[in-house]
Amino acid sequence: MPDRLPLFIGGDFVAGGGDEILPVTNPATQEVLTQVRFATHTEINRAVASARAAFVEWRETPLPERARLMLRYQNLLKQHQDEIARILSLETGKIFSDAQGDVWRGIEVVEHACNIASLMMGETAENVAGGIDTHSYIQPLGVCAGITPFNFPAMIPLWMFPLAIACGNTFVLKPSEQDPMTPNRLAELFVEAGSPPGVLQLIHGGKDQVEALLLHPDIRAVSFVGSLPVARHVYRTGTHQLKRVQAMSGAKNHMVVMPDANRDQVVRNLASASCGAAGQRCMAISVAVFVGESAEWIPQVRDAMATLRPGGWDDQNAAYGPQITPQARRRIIELIATGKEEGAECLLDGSECKVEGYPDGNWVGPTLFGNVSADMTIYREEIFGPVLLCAQVSDLDDAIRLINANPFGNGVSIFTSSGAAARRFQHEIDVGQVGINIPIPVPLPFFSFTGWRQSFFGDQHAYGKQAVKFYTETKTVMSRWFDDAPPAEPNMTIKLA
Ligand code: NAD
Repeated sequence: MPDRLPLFIGGDFVAGGGDEILPVTNPATQEVLTQVRFATHTEINRAVASARAAFVEWRETPLPERARLMLRYQNLLKQHQDEIARILSLETGKIFSDAQGDVWRGIEVVEHACNIASLMMGETAENVAGGIDTHSYIQPLGVCAGITPFNFPAMIPLWMFPLAIACGNTFVLKPSEQDPMTPNRLAELFVEAGSPPGVLQLIHGGKDQVEALLLHPDIRAVSFVGSLPVARHVYRTGTHQLKRVQAMSGAKNHMVVMPDANRDQVVRNLASASCGAAGQRCMAISVAVFVGESAEWIPQVRDAMATLRPGGWDDQNAAYGPQITPQARRRIIELIATGKEEGAECLLDGSECKVEGYPDGNWVGPTLFGNVSADMTIYREEIFGPVLLCAQVSDLDDAIRLINANPFGNGVSIFTSSGAAARRFQHEIDVGQVGINIPIPVPLPFFSFTGWRQSFFGDQHAYGKQAVKFYTETKTVMSRWFDDAPPAEPNMTIKLA
């Protein structure tokens, strides 16, 4: 790794000139891996200007050629999958299988972008009036920007720039300053795949750089993924600037456990869906809602969670890695303390977790709370750590009421063997992504990632057909053609057989 990560502007990797420099550290050891220098306003303006200039030619590049760039990129990402996963493990602390999953889910979006020709087909209708036809085209917007969070440094940038660029746009990516090495490697491979200069730019930074992108008059659309307060701010500011904005936000995902569910599946899935990736997934299960006598399984959930232990990236027996920063760890431990103070029953406490060989890691052990009520801080706030809350209700109606009253609507799940209960749940629940006997129902890229309510601000969701709509404009053409030749005499002869 270079001592300092470069920015990527106008087809060149350039050392940034900003005053703000942040170390990028390994969350398992605190070792400094590299440094990230935030972009200056001049550099941001240069990146946008270069994307704007590149758009003129890129929008004219034939669709099959744009698709071929994606095919080459997909191939390179697959070839380098483990190498990218290793970089990702280093800067996020994710265990290697989680890091590989992060890269793979991104590659799947690039595969979807390879279908861009059929995704950008318009509609036609003949004879909408006498001799008049109508057809619609789908055209790119111009310069688009993407702002991404720390928790999926490969997958989430790949949710954004490949589809936007396949649509004919050019793109400025501002990844999380906490794990920027993976996005830099993604950009290098995009160049190797043959991306023309200026089609993708990558600038590093934090709040100020985001603000500069939101206010830049030449940026037409902004994709954002991050926490609730920032998502709300990005959506408000961006739309106020008359930009198109999609802002994927925080979550509090529930899993309803019906008494007729398969107990072993419930226990296993609750443990892994709450603690996997150290709970740093926007689709992690953070509340188990036990209906009726299914609450008797809580001790078994505790036992299953107690067997999970965090560890280093290459520890085959580790279930997950550290939290991203010491601050994130401290916040989780404070929330655990608040949960105890507010009267929740702490059945398993990971606050004091230690991992042999990694004395300085940001570790939090699996944590389980019983007797949680909706007014508690641990229920109201997104914890984003390996912490599972248990709530108990008497029937499915109460479970649905509880979940629908929670402001977030990212993901939800029900475990049951009753088709009728599952059907009612999927219909009545006010959440955008529903799993039936599946704890983390993340749609594949030919669907879209459809969080609802406070988990999403905007109209068109990430990836799938909705992302193509987000990154494009529809142009509708009505046409009529006149024939200069005199109209032929109508032939009135009726032929009799
Ligand atoms: P974050 O909100 O702290 O940061 C996200 C991005 O916004 C980063 O690029 C960061 O530099 C920038 N940023 C931070 N503070 C800012 C500010 N005040 N003004 C402008 N920009 C700012 O989020 P995070 O901690 O990196 O990621 C975790 C959050 O992301 C969690 O809340 C998680 O639920 C959410 N998330 C949501 C989804 C989804 O699809 N809904 C997916 C992944 C993560």
